Formats: sequence, structure tokens, C-alpha cells
Amino acid sequence: MDIVFFIYGLAFLVLGIVIVIWPKAGSRFEFARLSLWLAGFAFVHGTLEWMDLWRIVRGDNPALAAARPLTLLASYLLLFEFGRRMLRAARPGAARGRRSEAWIHALLLAGVAAGTLAHDASLDSLAIWTRYLYGFPAALLSAAGLQAYAGRRIRPELATHQFSTVRRSCQLAGAAFAAYGVLGGLIVPQAAWPPPAWLNQEGFAAVGVPVQIFRAVCAVLIAGSMAHVLRIFHLEQQQHLTHTLQQTAAALEEAGRLGRHNRLLLESVAEGVFGLDTAGRTTFINPVATTLLGFQADELIGRPMHALTHHSWPDGRPYPADACPTHQTLQDGQPRHVAHEYFCRKDGSRFPVSYHTAQVQEQGRVIGAVVVFEDISERVRLDAELDAHRHHLERLVEERTAQLTEAEAYSRLILESSASGLFGMDADGRFTFLNPVASELLGHPHGSLIGQKVHLSVHHHHADGSPFPPDDCPMLAALVRGESVHNDDDLFWRADGSPLPVATATRPMHRDGRIVGAVVSFTDIRQRKAADEARRRALLEAERLVQIKSEFLANMSHEIRTPLNAIIGMTHLIRRAGVPDNQAGRLQRIEVAGQHLLEIINTILDLSKIEAGKFVLTDGPVKLEAVAANVCSILAERARAQHVELVTTLSPAPPHLQGDALRLQQALLNLTGNAVKFTENGRVCIRIRVTDESPDSALIHFEVEDTGIGIPADQLPRLFTAFEQVDGSATRRHGGTGLGLAITRNLAELMGGQAGASSTPGVGSRFWFTARLRKGLPDADPHHAHGHSAAEAALIAQHARRRLLLVEDEPINREVALDVLADCFQAVDVACDGAEAVELAARQPYDLILMDIQMPRLDGLAATRQIRALPGSARPTIIAMTANAFAEDRARCMAAGMDDFIAKPFTAELLYTTLLHWLSRRDRTGDASTV
Ligand code: ADP
Repeated sequence: MDIVFFIYGLAFLVLGIVIVIWPKAGSRFEFARLSLWLAGFAFVHGTLEWMDLWRIVRGDNPALAAARPLTLLASYLLLFEFGRRMLRAARPGAARGRRSEAWIHALLLAGVAAGTLAHDASLDSLAIWTRYLYGFPAALLSAAGLQAYAGRRIRPELATHQFSTVRRSCQLAGAAFAAYGVLGGLIVPQAAWPPPAWLNQEGFAAVGVPVQIFRAVCAVLIAGSMAHVLRIFHLEQQQHLTHTLQQTAAALEEAGRLGRHNRLLLESVAEGVFGLDTAGRTTFINPVATTLLGFQADELIGRPMHALTHHSWPDGRPYPADACPTHQTLQDGQPRHVAHEYFCRKDGSRFPVSYHTAQVQEQGRVIGAVVVFEDISERVRLDAELDAHRHHLERLVEERTAQLTEAEAYSRLILESSASGLFGMDADGRFTFLNPVASELLGHPHGSLIGQKVHLSVHHHHADGSPFPPDDCPMLAALVRGESVHNDDDLFWRADGSPLPVATATRPMHRDGRIVGAVVSFTDIRQRKAADEARRRALLEAERLVQIKSEFLANMSHEIRTPLNAIIGMTHLIRRAGVPDNQAGRLQRIEVAGQHLLEIINTILDLSKIEAGKFVLTDGPVKLEAVAANVCSILAERARAQHVELVTTLSPAPPHLQGDALRLQQALLNLTGNAVKFTENGRVCIRIRVTDESPDSALIHFEVEDTGIGIPADQLPRLFTAFEQVDGSATRRHGGTGLGLAITRNLAELMGGQAGASSTPGVGSRFWFTARLRKGLPDADPHHAHGHSAAEAALIAQHARRRLLLVEDEPINREVALDVLADCFQAVDVACDGAEAVELAARQPYDLILMDIQMPRLDGLAATRQIRALPGSARPTIIAMTANAFAEDRARCMAAGMDDFIAKPFTAELLYTTLLHWLSRRDRTGDASTV
């Protein structure tokens, strides 16, 4: 039996030791802590069994016998507490509630005490009641607690396959606990009182059931199964390790991923990146960096970077590693940025870089540095280019500034050198600048006028002293209207109060569409004004001289015509009276000489009148064919004498042209006369045609072409000037005054035309002129249509008995006229001056009075006025017959009441036609009175 107790006790003691030494620190299971209650039970109960073994082997010991029930109670109390706590730990939320459950023990202990006291109060009773009230429930609680804990707490924590073995151990331990509860708690030592009286160990022993052996077996099962249950801590550890391993793997995986990511980042960045250890050896380098540096990565890794790529400056000076910013950063931990340095490539070339360098630490320990660099070649190139551009621009700006300065200086020089006064005014009309000439002319010290009002300072009064209101000032008006204003006759007032006549030009200045002021330039016109005054006086003098000249010419003309009239008239009369042939020839020459002289006088007179602007054209019907015919008939004789054929070509022209037929004829006669004069044995063609026609007028072209001597080309232009001849020498062959062409051109121009010539020496000349003639109505009274012989005959036939009065103071002229008239009229009275004429006219009516103008006592004009004032119905026709041949003389005659005008010297034919015209007209109007 002693071996049973030995094993029994040993099983529990071993369980206690195993529980205590089993490694379970850090376990999450409450079981790790609660198992200590079980260990306590195992130690105490194992000791109890070995106490029994001691008593069996050594004999009873009262001390041990006394200690035994208390030890039993203590061991069951510990087991009870293990079971109860396991059960509570298995409940969900059990950990939270920690209510004291000491009352259970109070109740149970009270039960044990009461049971003990109620029987024999012996140690045996105490042991029995301890087994009943504590041992049995404690074993059941432990069985239940273990099952519950395993199911609820252990199962979720372990893998299924792990849990399955644990569960079996738990079930075995539970069963062993339950069996132990029954065997140890209910089957007690025999006592005198029931239930131990019939349910006791001795009774079972008697029937051959050694309870102690079963109890020992249960103890061994409990110890073995519980020891197996303790494997959960191992499994938990295992699981924890697995979990930790998984976490580590995941962390490693993450670290690897981060590493790959970082490598990718490093490879993807545009900058070169390399890392150094604390000794400056390369620890990593990205592809950009290797490409830029021209090294393979493995040529750099582990080798000193500075010595390979950063060892010297571009000029060859060495770059000590101590001075390298990366090295310094490694030393002091300060990050650095270098904007412009050079890295060396493997091939020895360099390239400009900017780089950042920073220390790398691991857990507070410096492990190296990282350098991020950038190839700035392009930037440096661009900077250099920009620099070049900037320099270029700066140079341009300098050049432009120099040009502007020069231009400004030049402008200032121009302003200062300008001979005109120049000043500027702002929009308010104040001086902004004056050039030196302006200051000098205005008599103000240079610069003193700046800021002063222009008008109030120098333009305040008119020349007559009256105030000049600013509102009327043209310079200020230019500022308002924005237009340039010129004033050729203005006046400025000088500082000393004296006037300064000026010509001004005001030009407004515009900026951004606004008038910002004006520039006024002015010139001193004192000299010009003086010159104007002198010119005005000279003009007056010239006009006076022209007047004197005209008067002289008129007088001279009168004085020459009067005797010439007598010469020509007398010659005519003598020839008509009949003279011997030799005398007739001389008379003929006198007559020709007289006519020539008359022509010269007429021409000079015409020219001087044209020059004096006093030439007046008459207006009457023009028959172009008559003009041409007259010219031909006048020149026919001479042409024949020179064997010149005279041909006229007249193109169709509008009828009823109006103009001065006599002057046209004169011009054409000039050209044709010259043509005949300078042609021998040739041909002269007169051509008349219309070259331009309007509803009111026609431009007639007169052309005379000859086959004469011609004119050198260089002579042609000057021939139309008065007194110019091709051959002006005293030995010239042809006569002439050199006035004909000049008169012709003047007449043509007066008649709205021109004159010109073309010629070839030795071949001939072509002279032409044009005249614009008005288109008029048919002439109702063509009184000059008669030929002179016809006129004389008509006068004799129709008007011989008319009463005529001749008023003439000059005896020879009187005789000539009387003789001419006597051929046609029976009675011609004579008066020797105006007064006599008035007397005669008052006494008897006359059909016609021929009235001289310049006469003693009463001149022809006054006499006419008095005759016109005479009472009575008869109104004689009064015709002026005077050597005052100017147009104004004619006008004065008409104004005095005369009807017509015959200039002396006159021809008999002219006299006859004029008389026939007027007397026939009197017939038609019934105004005739006969003797
Ligand atoms: P005048 O004939 O009286 O001298 P003109 O003015 O008519 O004055 O002519 C000026 C000069 O022009 C002439 O002297 C002559 O030299 C030249 N002239 C004019 N017409 C002709 C012509 N048809 N042929 C050659 N020379 C001419």
C-alpha cells in the first residue's frame, strides 16, 4: 500500500512542479495564472499523501494526524478555487467582473465546521466533512471549469488540428477530476454516522475495491492529462512565433517593395543621385548619375567618389576632399546646396553641376551622405547665351542712347542755330522753351520768359495800340483747334515796349491724340515790310511813268497822224485830179511811204497800249473768208512782184463768229506779209481751221506756211519778242521793225489763243496763231460789206443831197476832208472849231457831222454834248474824226453822244463806207434831211 501512496503523492507533486516550471510567460491565456491554483492543490495534496505514506512507513504520528485534515482542507480549498476561477474565466466577459466570492468559502467552511461539530468533533469528522463539502465540489468544478475553458477560450486561440489533442487531454483530465471527486470526495473513511457509516473506503476495501489505488490512478491521470494540457502554452508560443514570422515576412516583403520602389524612384529621377558612407566611398548611385559621370556603377561603388569625380577645378587646381561641401556635410550634418561647380567624367572632361548634399543617419548614427546633382550645361549655355544677348542689348542701348544724345544735341543745335525765332508753349499757352534767336528778337534775357503766358507777354496789343483779346489770338486758337496757323503779318512786342513785325507759324503738338502744346516759329519781317513799302512806292512811280508814257504816245500819235493825214489825203487828191506819169509815180511813192509810216505808228501804238494793259478789242461779226481775202488782196501785188504763189485754204467754220475782225486781219497780215517778204519764187499758204469748239465759242487756228529762207532753230523763240529780228544788222536785206510777231502773239493771247512757229532754214517756215471767237447771231446790218468804189458810187447815187457839217480846226486836214467829201456831196458846211459847229447846228439841221476832237475854243466832245442838247426833233449823226486814236478816246466820244469814230489818218474808202452806213441807216429810220 505504501507504493500506492508514493505514486499518488508523486503524481501530484510532479504535476505541481511541471505547472510551476512550464514556460508560459507572456501567454494570453488566464490559464497560465489560474494553473498556479492547481499547482498549489497538487503540492499540498501530494504532500498530504506523502504524510500518509510517512505514517504508514514510520507508524502513526499524532502531529501528522492532527495536521492531516487541515492540509486536506487547504488542498481542496485550492482546487475549489482553481475550478471556480476556471469556470468564471470561461464565461464571456468574465475577466471584467471580479466580484469577491469569499462568501462561498465562508458558507462552505461554516458547513464543514457545523458538520464536524454536529458529530463527534473529531479530526476524522473534519476530514469527512471537508471531503463532502469541499473535495467533491472542488473536483467537479475543476472538471467543469476545464471543459468550459477549453471550449470557450482555448479553442478560438488555436488551430483546429492543434486544439484536437488539447481537447482530448482536457476531456481526459475532466473525467479524471470527476472520478477523483467521486472517489476522493464521496468515498470517505468509515464513521459511526451516516452516510460514512455505509459509504466508506473500508466498505469498498471489504468488497475488493481498493479506493486508494483508484484515487492514485486518477491522480496519475490528472497529472498526465493536465501536463498535456499545459502544451497549449507551447502551441500558443508556436502560434505566436508563426504569427511573428508571418509579420516579419510581410515586413520584409514591404521593405523589399519599398526598396524596389525607392530604387525605381532613384532610377526615375532626372537628377543624378549617389550615396556615400562616412569615409566618402560610394554606397549607391542611380543610372542618371552613372550616365552623366560616364562610369559604370560597379566602377564607383565602394570607391571614393571625390577622388574619382570631384578632384580638381576646371583650371587644373586640385580640389581637396576637406574643402568638398559633401565632406563638410558628413562632418557637421548641415545640408548644403552648391549652385555651380564641376564634376569630372571618366574621360577627364568636366561638366557644370548644381548639387544638394545631406547627411544620412540611422537611429541617430551618421551612416553617410546623399548627393543629388543636376547637369546644368544647358542652363549654363542658356545663361551664357542670355548674357551675350544682354550684353548685345546693353551695347545696343548704349549705342541708341549715344545716338539719341547726339540727335538731341543736334536738335538743340538746330534750335539754337535756327535763323528764325522758335518758342514752344504748353496747352495753357505758356512759354516752355525759346531758342536764342527768339529771346534776342523779343529782347528778353534767355530763359526769363519760361512759364509766362505767351499772349500776355509778347502779343497783347495790335499795331494801332488797341488791346488784343486773347480770345482772338490765332496762336492760342491753334492750341484749341489743333490746326496749324500762319500769319504773314503779325506783331510781337519786345521787352522795351517796341513793336516787332513778324511772320508767325503756329503748329500744334499732339501726343496720344491730345494737344499738349504748340511750336511757334517767327521771323523778323521789318526788312520785308520796308521792301514791300519801297516796292509799293516803285509801283506807284512806275504806274505814273506809264501814264506819262501813254499820254506822250497819245500826243505824239496825234501830232504825227495829223500831218500824215494831210500828206496822204493831199497825195490822194492830187493823184485823182490827174498828173503827168512821172509825177504820178512820185505821188505813189509818197503815198506808200505815208502808209508805211502810218503802219509803224499804229504798231508802236498798239504795242504800247498792250503793254500798258489799255488795249481794248472791239466786238463784231467776223467773216474768216473776208479776213483771208483782205489779206490776200493787200499782198497780192507784192506777191506777184516776187513770183510768190498765194494760196488760201479755209476749212468749214461755224457761221456768225464774233470778235475783232480788224485785229485778226492785222495778225494774219503780219504773218503773211513776213512770209511773202522772206520768200522769192515760192509759195505761201494761208490755212484757217477750227481746232476746238464749244457751244459758245470756237478756237480758230491761223497758219501761214512759206517756202522762203527759213529761220535757224535757235533764233525762233526770241522772234516773238518786240524789236527782235533774225538779221538786225544795218546791212540787212529786208526791212521791218521787228514788232510784227510780238504784236501777233500779244493779239493772239488777248483773243484767248497762242502763237508759235517752226522753221527749217533754206526750206521754209510755218507761223501760226490761234484765237477764240464767240459764236453770235447773224449780223443784220453788214455796213462794211461794200467795196470802196461801190460805196462812193452809192453815196453819189443816194445821198448826194444830204447836209453834212465838217468840224476841223487844222486847215490842211480840213481841205483834204472837204475835197474827199466834195466828190460825193453837193453841200458840206465847215466849222473851224466846236463853238462854230454848235452855232451852225442850232441854225439848221444836219444829217451828219464829222467832228474833230482837239480844237480851240470848244473841243469836239463839248460841242457834241451841246448839239445833242439843242432843242428840236432833228438828231444829226455825229462821227468823230480824230488823231486821238486810242480806245479810251473812242469811249469818251461815245459817252459824249457821238455815233461812230474814224481815226486819223483815214482813207477815203473808210470815210465813204462809214458815211454810206450811217446815211443809209438814217434812211431806214426815216431820220433824213436833205438840201
Ligand atoms: P519785221 O518783219 O518787221 O522785222 P517781225 O516781228 O514781223 O518784224 O519779224 C521779226 C523777224 O522774224 C524778221 O525780221 C525776220 O528776221 C523773221 N521772220 C519773220 N517771219 C519770217 C519768215 N516767214 N521767214 C523768215 N524769217 C521770218
